[in-house]
Amino acid sequence: MAAENIRHWKIGDVQVTRIVEIDAHQDPFTMVSPELAPDAGKNYPWLIPHFCTPEGVMKISFQAFAMKTPDRTIIVDTCIGSDRERAHPGFSHMQSDYLDDLAHAGYDPEKVDTVLCTHLHFDHVGWNTKLVDGQWVPTFPNARYLFGDKEFEFWKHEIAEGKEHASHFPDSVDPVVKAGLVDLIGPNHQVCEEVSLFPTPGHTAGHVSVMIKSKGQEAVITGDLMHHPIQLAEPGLPATFDEDTEQGVATRKAFVQRFADTDVTVIGSHFCDPTAGRIVSDEKSWRLKLD
Ligand SMILES: [Zn+2]
Repeated sequence: MAAENIRHWKIGDVQVTRIVEIDAHQDPFTMVSPELAPDAGKNYPWLIPHFCTPEGVMKISFQAFAMKTPDRTIIVDTCIGSDRERAHPGFSHMQSDYLDDLAHAGYDPEKVDTVLCTHLHFDHVGWNTKLVDGQWVPTFPNARYLFGDKEFEFWKHEIAEGKEHASHFPDSVDPVVKAGLVDLIGPNHQVCEEVSLFPTPGHTAGHVSVMIKSKGQEAVITGDLMHHPIQLAEPGLPATFDEDTEQGVATRKAFVQRFADTDVTVIGSHFCDPTAGRIVSDEKSWRLKLD
């Protein structure tokens, strides 16, 4: 258990809790966009020290969010997961503290009623399942798992074509489908009174972001419509990991315009600690203002 992995926010009556699985991993900024220099961060002093090193190298985290509303317990995305074979050695056969951290933060997997995946990449669905006696079983046995209908169709097609990037489905997605726990939902699905989705396609076809509204306060969980706060300053740059480059740019621009200079707290799915802030205009561009 690592207390620094856990951070709580209060949005009206909703508690949002972050659980970090991989903290502040360093990579060149080309991982975010092929048009950024590896050390591009040094041109954006506001990114230092939380989001890049003093030398300008990118810092990125892998994390999930849990939520308690007055009557629901929801997990948004489920990280990478332990015990899995993955193409990237850094993600393969990990042993992570995610479940211990979740318990320490006050979330009992048996009591989670909803698991919501912003999209179905391997780093957002891992702890959908856990390995028990050699079998992959649902981690949240009493939850409905919500997957976007368009997203699920896209991946069915990728699997049929034998695409390598769908190789996480047998351990992280198929077992919850087989257990009958999945509901396919539309991109504007209302999860409960306080929590709804809105479409943010580009990174993947059916990608969604999560809106939380309670008692006049609002927050949004980005998912992977962006990976790093530098993309608030440069929403028009193509993103390395977007399936649809043009759509990804359009989605990022619309997102920044919608939330800039508002009171909406933006919680970045891959943003390093402190992970959340508000988008503010910064001369000709935007930046993340920490709370
Ligand atoms: Zn991701």
